[in-house]
Amino acid sequence: MNKPVKFILTSFAFLSLTLLTACSKQTDDANKVTEVLLQGNTMGTTYHVKIVATEQQVKDKKVHADIDALLKQVNQQMSTYIPDSELSRFNKNLTTEPVKISEGLREVIAESIRLGKLSHGKLDITVGPLVNLWGFGPDFHPDKVPSPEVEAAARKRIGLDKLSLNGNMLRKSIPDLYIDLSTTAKGYGVDKVADLIEAKGFKNYLVEIGGEMRLKGVKHTGELWAVAIEKPVSQERSVQEIILPKDNAIATSGDYRNYFEVNGQRFSHIIDPDTGRPINHKLVSVTVIAPSSMTADGLSTTLMVMGEAKGLAFANEHDIAALFISKSEHGFVEENTVKFVPYLK
Ligand code: ADP
Ligand code: MG
Repeated sequence: MNKPVKFILTSFAFLSLTLLTACSKQTDDANKVTEVLLQGNTMGTTYHVKIVATEQQVKDKKVHADIDALLKQVNQQMSTYIPDSELSRFNKNLTTEPVKISEGLREVIAESIRLGKLSHGKLDITVGPLVNLWGFGPDFHPDKVPSPEVEAAARKRIGLDKLSLNGNMLRKSIPDLYIDLSTTAKGYGVDKVADLIEAKGFKNYLVEIGGEMRLKGVKHTGELWAVAIEKPVSQERSVQEIILPKDNAIATSGDYRNYFEVNGQRFSHIIDPDTGRPINHKLVSVTVIAPSSMTADGLSTTLMVMGEAKGLAFANEHDIAALFISKSEHGFVEENTVKFVPYLK
């Protein structure tokens, strides 16, 4: 959420899912149905919304202003980059008594805990101290690997068993537990924006925040929305695969642009809670399709933590639509679950 450092590092990665649509046609006729594009900044990245409607309809329903207000509210609830956000206040508050939280925060934390349990702790929203230690959080970006003592101290503060949610009461069992919702909050924002657009009566739209997307219906041409998955390389931008997600959300997790190097070794921004260290395997990106963007967002990171073999087995076992791209000596290797097949073009 709202991460200046990460934004610089990943301003390209966010479009690893690229829309295959021509730019919305400029038209003088405000009553002609087109793909009306609304865009702005949120969560340290950008958002893009396309609604198949007339300019006038979108204007009359105040869609743009309402989206901005909604995203501002979401950010104020769950950003760790805003010192007085609801989440930052919970993180700084040293009490181990239950604290009442907003419905938005409750939803995101509940889903994050569910995915955390499902994955036996591979997705862990308490992993923040390690993320920051390895230089990808709001804190200073280190240029060296942390010492074992510092690493051990950070690991003591980690674990979903130190967090409990009971209705809208959230409780931590150690005073300095730190929650980081980077893996699910962007997706939650996408879901909220999509719900808002739907509530205003639009049936064909697309919502994207920092690469997380949710789509519904068709483009103004009547064709399905198509999404391109980029080739997972940091130097160039070309298409690896074209996907038709239909009325679903699509999320990609990949470590090929957001990393730093020390002595030739790459350090990813994704931490394996079991080792306490950045992931280090051949899997370079995972794409997940699911009805909820929050779930797709969280699952793509979860599978990324697991790596190619365990991730694929887990996704098949849990009926997750997922596409894995791994590095091999002969270039990139793609594997997908059975559930993903209907979305391949
Ligand atoms: P990606 O697009 O690569 O999935 P995200 O922004 O969705 O990236 O999620 C990565 C972020 O999640 C990291 O920058 C970090 O803040 C946090 N994170 C890293 N490892 C984990 C983990 N195992 N569980 C939960 N959150 C994590
Ligand atoms: Mg993710």
